[in-house]
Amino acid sequence: MNPTATLSPAPTSPAVSTSDLWLRILKIIESKIQRGQFITWFKDTAVLGLEEGNLVVGLPLPMFLTWHMQHYRTMTLEAAQEIDPSIREIVYTVDVGLKDNRERSTDLLEHFPELKKRKVAGRQEVKLAEGIVSKILSPKYMIENFIVGTNNRLAHAACMAVAREPGGKYNPLFLYGGVGLGKTHLLQATGNAILKAHPRSTVVYTTSEDFTNQVVEAIQHQKMDQFNRRYRTVDVLIIDDIQFIANKDRTQEIFFHTFNALYEERKQVIISADRPPQELQLEDRLISRFARGMIADVSQPDYETRLAILSEKAAEYEIFLDRAVLEFIAQHVTKNVRELEGILMQAVALYELEQRMPTVRSISEIMSKLSMDPLKDEETVGFTKAPKRKPTFQEIMEAVSRYYSVSIQDMVGASRVREVLHPRQVAMLLGKKHLDMSYVRLGEVFGGRDHTTVMNALKKVDGRQHNDPQLLREIRAVEVELGLVQ
Ligand code: ADP
Ligand code: MG
Repeated sequence: MNPTATLSPAPTSPAVSTSDLWLRILKIIESKIQRGQFITWFKDTAVLGLEEGNLVVGLPLPMFLTWHMQHYRTMTLEAAQEIDPSIREIVYTVDVGLKDNRERSTDLLEHFPELKKRKVAGRQEVKLAEGIVSKILSPKYMIENFIVGTNNRLAHAACMAVAREPGGKYNPLFLYGGVGLGKTHLLQATGNAILKAHPRSTVVYTTSEDFTNQVVEAIQHQKMDQFNRRYRTVDVLIIDDIQFIANKDRTQEIFFHTFNALYEERKQVIISADRPPQELQLEDRLISRFARGMIADVSQPDYETRLAILSEKAAEYEIFLDRAVLEFIAQHVTKNVRELEGILMQAVALYELEQRMPTVRSISEIMSKLSMDPLKDEETVGFTKAPKRKPTFQEIMEAVSRYYSVSIQDMVGASRVREVLHPRQVAMLLGKKHLDMSYVRLGEVFGGRDHTTVMNALKKVDGRQHNDPQLLREIRAVEVELGLVQ
């Protein structure tokens, strides 16, 4: 603080408007957190009042509430106190009318326009050896950002072992599995790890298609010697998608000799394919060479692994998605990691281009646009068919709890704060609507409430449905998550 300011008489300035106050607080917060978080969580917020030291902060969606309480309350209070030391407490209130309302909420993009370029790791040059630089290994694929699950545990362990001791026990290393399950990631990550541990070693990564092209070119220009020199002096040769040299006899022959030369020198060879060695349409002698080494498969990730991968990717892209959204994606995209990433990228686009916070609903809309609708098509896109059966009451409670970030315990408890009351009413409404539960039964499962209490609560929320589009959207989002509507 400028000491002279305190000496001069306090200016009799008109009280700062709440929007100015909020802007000044936001400036402080913006300097402390990542832009992605800032835009996500402070968009459509406002200061709604300041009474007796309580700063009332309006949030546009129920899901913001827990997040703010857990992550930003202290920071917001501190920032507020920097500007007005009389502020003692931050009080949050959900006001859905703030959503996309330029008059009432703060337009973050206008006031905080600087769009920092998000750093998406691109291909960097990798130094392979003195004077040799390859652009092939991508730093995007690291062992550290590869999520280990039951589907890839063995493959991952084998890669780690190879990275520790290239040319050791696991030579050659052969990984196989379907598309988009992480083979290329693992191969590249292993190459990167070897380079890190042995910076002077020569690591070559190539696809079998590139390898074939180079063979063709070498033959054409009579540069086979050069080709052999290049490939036979490497320390590690990584060949991705070997299945593509099926029916290419000359390439297979050249690869066989390259392989042998390296193997005899105890150089590491790592190969991937879409199927196990025995099923490849390759020369027998090649297949038997592959079978000599370590063979590991990568298969489809289970739900927990999918969720972990999504969280990892979301963090990489610096996008903060509600857990319910991540869970929704993980639940519905089941066969292929690449597809998981595809949906996530759509969410990033939604968020970056339209500044919309992805919700279960918007994601499920994106999925149906991509004809990834769980109810329509199971086989082609890797969806688990949403069960046609009715959800259980427990499932309804879980979905509501996730959507509003309110615990089931709170919902069946006695609290009457709006943040609990509202989800409770929505859960009751869904129980009535989809399970045809009686008022008495609802009263029982909601912590022993009287059936008239239930009736009144339901009347209220049912009445509001007709003139509250936000409520309708919320109900629909939960219904989508439960597979009740598309
Ligand atoms: P494949 O080569 O088997 O077709 P990729 O390695 O290209 O598959 O994987 C597709 C995408 O999924 C890549 O972006 C990769 O980073 C990602 N991916 C796959 N498995 C994992 C995992 N276990 N952890 C993190 N990312 C993964
Ligand atoms: Mg691949």
